[in-house]
Amino acid sequence: MHRRSLLRGSAALCVTASLPAFGLEFAAPTALAPIRAQPDRIIDIAVATRPFRPQGPRIEAERLHGKAIVHNYGHGGSGWSLSWGSAKAALPLVLATREKHVAVIGCGAIGLTTARVLQRAGLKVRIYCKDRPPEVRSSAATGVWTPESRLCTVEHATPQFLQRWEAMARASFKVYQSLLGLPGEPVEWYDGYVLSDVPFDQPVPFAASEGEPEYPEIESIVRDLRPRSVTLEPSQHPFHVPHVRRFTQLAFNLPAYSRLLMEDFLREGGDIVGREFEHSRQLAGLRERTIVNATGYGARALFNDKSLVAVRGQTARLIPQPEAHYGLVYRGHNLVVVPRRDGILVQAQGEHDFGNEDVTPDRALTDEAVKRLAALFA
Ligand SMILES: Cc1cc2nc3c(=O)[nH]c(=O)nc-3n(C[C@H](O)[C@H](O)[C@H](O)COP(=O)(O)OP(=O)(O)OC[C@H]3O[C@@H](n4cnc5c(N)ncnc54)[C@H](O)[C@@H]3O)c2cc1C
Repeated sequence: MHRRSLLRGSAALCVTASLPAFGLEFAAPTALAPIRAQPDRIIDIAVATRPFRPQGPRIEAERLHGKAIVHNYGHGGSGWSLSWGSAKAALPLVLATREKHVAVIGCGAIGLTTARVLQRAGLKVRIYCKDRPPEVRSSAATGVWTPESRLCTVEHATPQFLQRWEAMARASFKVYQSLLGLPGEPVEWYDGYVLSDVPFDQPVPFAASEGEPEYPEIESIVRDLRPRSVTLEPSQHPFHVPHVRRFTQLAFNLPAYSRLLMEDFLREGGDIVGREFEHSRQLAGLRERTIVNATGYGARALFNDKSLVAVRGQTARLIPQPEAHYGLVYRGHNLVVVPRRDGILVQAQGEHDFGNEDVTPDRALTDEAVKRLAALFA
């Protein structure tokens, strides 16, 4: 027998001898490139507010100032995740007006996806907006698929509401799978690790900010859309933490993804007009008779929706490290890391985020989070 095939043959024999009774068992890779967590590698800190409504997103039509207004706002911490499904829910309300030329106010996650869905339905769409990406609040988001995040309060999660939410989440998820594998990775899946000092069935102090309401536990309704997380043995990961689970997460690289949405919208004949509306009466002057309101938190002032609450959030980015393409969640340590292509995103929650409109960056909050991250690689 040839020497190389002999070696291959004996190696194969060893592997076969160590096989478990039913099927192959592959060792999990343990070599992960360390994240270079240093305060001097922070390249940006972004702060924005989530447009939270206790009763959940508002998707309904009304007549105002001689126009048909279709509202689509108030998605809390799940706007990117629900956007396509939310646009799909708004579509019949727009089509019912029988107008072929439609205005969308807002160029964030909701405005852009609604505009695309209306275009695909054959309508001519113009976006009016004060800001566009990367200046919109949507651009400061974490960029992970979290359709249940700060969606509504527990008392508003009625069976009817949840049915609608589930349909939106599933519709969005399906669209996102069609955006995988594109240049620039606008949408992708990555592996991440949840680290814990105590067993996973033991509670840890939760970094909820003051005044935060009780949110419904609804993640299980769409759990089938996510791969199950798996517990890792110490030999299967490099972290000096006693309890580790690996999860797999759908994520959005927001700069590439927003650009894709805008380019698709413009290429298919849409146009974007920079304009700020001080009062809803000004909508009467628009040439379009059907208007989608996708102004997010802006609807509080523009449409006098006092139920909207600002929930502040701060994200920071470290210099991109393509070789460190994994996420981290450190339970009880107020630390979330997302391996975005435009930088390693580090997120920590402040103590006074709920009801807080202040978008001044808190450098100390980020520095502390980066130090906690660095300690994991010390
Ligand atoms: C820190 C943070 C992290 C988040 N992470 C995630 C996440 O990982 N996954 C997820 O799904 N969601 C996440 N979210 C939530 C998500 O970002 C929001 O739900 C979403 O951005 C809301 O989008 P929007 O288009 O409604 O609002 P915006 O992005 O605020 O867009 C509103 C648009 O309306 C325009 N506008 C407003 N008022 C006026 C006016 N008077 N005249 C003219 N134009 C106006 C604005 O200029 C803008 O173009 C996060 C949010 C934050 C703050």
